[in-house]
Amino acid sequence: MKFGGTSVADAERLTRAARRIVARAEEGKGVVVVLSARGKETDRLIADAFEISENPDPREMDMLLSTGERISCALCAMAIRDLGHEAISLSGSQAGIVTDTVHTKARIVDVKAHRIQDALDQGKIVLVAGFQGVSTAKDVTTLGRGGSDTTAVALAAAVGAEVCEIYTDVPGVFSADPRIVPGAQKLDVVSFEEVLEMAASGAGVLQLRSVEYARNHGVTIHCRSSFDDSTGTYVVPEEDTMEQPMITAVSHSTGEARITLLGVPDSPGAAGRIATTLADANINVDMIIQNEPIADGEPADMSFTIPADDVRLAKESLEPLKTELNLRGIVADEEVGKVSVIGAGMRSHPGVAAKVFTVLGENAINIEMISTSTIRISVVIPKEQVPDAVRALHTAFELDGDDTILAEQPFSEKGA
Ligand code: ASP
Ligand code: MG
Repeated sequence: MKFGGTSVADAERLTRAARRIVARAEEGKGVVVVLSARGKETDRLIADAFEISENPDPREMDMLLSTGERISCALCAMAIRDLGHEAISLSGSQAGIVTDTVHTKARIVDVKAHRIQDALDQGKIVLVAGFQGVSTAKDVTTLGRGGSDTTAVALAAAVGAEVCEIYTDVPGVFSADPRIVPGAQKLDVVSFEEVLEMAASGAGVLQLRSVEYARNHGVTIHCRSSFDDSTGTYVVPEEDTMEQPMITAVSHSTGEARITLLGVPDSPGAAGRIATTLADANINVDMIIQNEPIADGEPADMSFTIPADDVRLAKESLEPLKTELNLRGIVADEEVGKVSVIGAGMRSHPGVAAKVFTVLGENAINIEMISTSTIRISVVIPKEQVPDAVRALHTAFELDGDDTILAEQPFSEKGA
């Protein structure tokens, strides 16, 4: 059972989560719980760091950020004990979550779950601080924003859990962000592949890595509301979903920026140098566009999108290439947004791209970049037009439902 930040934001909600955990244990189940930091705690800690330092040291950042989740677990263990059950809280390191050494976005390399297993065998409810681990160099690491989902899936795999329940402040995975699209519908079942595409294209649904991990280890995810008992969304292998509609969801992101390199030489190896530089800096590149110049020997421009948080790092890392490749300049544009149409049914239905582009055109939305996978079409457009684009596409692909769902909670940790 994993509870997100809003689900443990104050004493009342934390107690509610504790009751829910205890109820599961009373069904006779062994329960491992992963908690996120409370409310906006992680944002607050990040702000604290930037108040002290312009460029906070990544190792110290991890020491700082990992505290948020520990607070949640210690408090919840107290609440569970008061409800008459045995409980123990563990840091990521105590829980045996071993990661690589990349601070602030570490990857799990091993889970040594024997301490959890021992505690379960003693009839204890085990609470594990999400989003963190211990590196192979014995330092505390964090797993990137939203990383508690990955902790939950990794532990579910390690202890052979029946299901990994992700409790959050929305009833499940939606066909679009209900805050933008009033007719967005909760999906009952969605495939790993679709959720991966959704997570990669900005839906706050689940951390991307958690879904990759779940798919690779065969963990069933049930994403559901922490405020009621209703069934949420099951994330399962594609074979287990029924006949797919053409389009399942429209997701969007405004957390990216576009970097353009002007005057990239038209010669073998140039793109490799650029991509390697970004990879060495651990920057995830999403869309990449480059066109062969029409006239031979002329330089080309190359654009790609990266997380907006990495703009500064990207510029610093690419700077030396200016002289090496004789570039005319490096430009960053943060006023862009990305809208994606996703559906496994796309594989067998031609014409989806035509429809996407036509709908955007009819709404006077200019497309700046395009990328596709077998089950996704994404466009980069001006940031301020993102909500209009999402609504128009959701309607055009007949995803609007009759009942409008309005977020009952004041803020939401999971978007679409
Ligand atoms: N607290 C961390 C964050 O806000 C991790 C998580 O919530 O999953 O990103
Ligand atoms: Mg969170």
